[in-house]
Amino acid sequence: MSQKSQPCELIEKCNFFNSLQVDAVRRGWELWFCKNPAKFEQCERKKLRINGKTPANDMTPTGRFLHEYPDYE
Ligand code: SF4
Repeated sequence: MSQKSQPCELIEKCNFFNSLQVDAVRRGWELWFCKNPAKFEQCERKKLRINGKTPANDMTPTGRFLHEYPDYE
């Protein structure tokens, strides 16, 4: 029996996650961070939020910006 794990608690109001328009890109970040309990506590966006700071919308969970990733348009 498998129990569905919960996503990051910030997912509904996360400007980064909710701005992803391309399904494949969105799915990639879901699997890597946003719906991966083993990773979302390490999200750099979340760390900033916990410290009362607001990350830029295009800052990814790794701390890099989307435009810094090769092949991302
Ligand atoms: S980008 Fe970070 S803060 Fe936003 S939903 Fe994903 S894991 Fe949570």
